[in-house]
Amino acid sequence: MASSSMTSPPAWSSALSSQVNSSAEAKKSTFILSDVSCSLPHAHSEQCHFQIAWTINPHMVPGSSDLEIAFTQHLNFKQLLRDAGAEVVELPFVCSAYDSVFTKDNALLLSSAGPASSVKPGASQLAVLANPLHGVRRAEQAGRKKALLSRGFSVVELPPQFKLEGGDLVVCAGHGIFMGHGFRSTLESAHALEVRIGVSVLPLKLVDPFLYHLDTALSVLKDGTAIACKRAFAPKSWELLVRSPWISKVIEVSEREALSFGCNLVQVGKTVILGSFLPGLMRSLKLQGYTPRYAPLSEFQRAGGSAACLVAEVHDHEALRSHAAGERSHATRESGLAGHTETLGLVTTSPTAARRSTSEYA
Ligand SMILES: [Zn+2]
Repeated sequence: MASSSMTSPPAWSSALSSQVNSSAEAKKSTFILSDVSCSLPHAHSEQCHFQIAWTINPHMVPGSSDLEIAFTQHLNFKQLLRDAGAEVVELPFVCSAYDSVFTKDNALLLSSAGPASSVKPGASQLAVLANPLHGVRRAEQAGRKKALLSRGFSVVELPPQFKLEGGDLVVCAGHGIFMGHGFRSTLESAHALEVRIGVSVLPLKLVDPFLYHLDTALSVLKDGTAIACKRAFAPKSWELLVRSPWISKVIEVSEREALSFGCNLVQVGKTVILGSFLPGLMRSLKLQGYTPRYAPLSEFQRAGGSAACLVAEVHDHEALRSHAAGERSHATRESGLAGHTETLGLVTTSPTAARRSTSEYA
């Protein structure tokens, strides 16, 4: 197997990391966001703020976003997250890497903080750095690695042949991770990720280029409610998803709602934040006991991302790992899809070995 590398945070990062640790202990949602413009002490140029300058997904039209509106929308979105009770940690904008505002794509963030007494400052947060398909997005990663290390994350990097983008990862709290493939991430990355973090990773094949990342077609709330668009998935992957024991209920959204980024939402407790006003979906969420909130994010949607793409949530690694051993075989057996595992590209691993390899982050 090709090797991966892990980098530990510098000792001086412990004060910053406690910001993330303490919120994880309290089971509060913690989100990493990016600034929309650069605050570096250099002469600012056109490269120092969010804009659409290339086309790497069908939503993007260069020059189509309004910076002033984007600023206001981002500010309002951040305030909604905080009002809902989330901890928000901001990373600097990466100059000339405009898509760096979509922080979820940069890395999968995991915390193993556990009970307060077991916290090792600077060693309880892990960032699995993405390997983006497109060069314009790979340009973000050096800056992101540095920023995550400075905030107390240990960083794991996959070998370059394993393409993996955070937008293709949808975490089911306490169970495992669904990984989209077909446009950006490669199928083989599911196994590569699984063995490195000791968490079950189930690949799902995507087929609609407008719903190119899994998080544009699927969201799973903490109670196992999936908000999903059937059209985005290959038939067998859709079947695997809706019959997964990780999922308690499916709210199916129309293609129109999905193209308005209805699946690309953020949950903070009972609050669900949507970047578009979608009355049908909001009604369904209300019926499930949630409070839907609308934070307009049109300027970011023009770049192909909405609420979920703008935040990287710090997930509970312990809860995911402790379920890994039995869940994979359980998922396949319970779904009755054992005969389809090859066509679905399911891969197996040894969660025990994986737990050993990442039991200490630093
Ligand atoms: Zn700059």
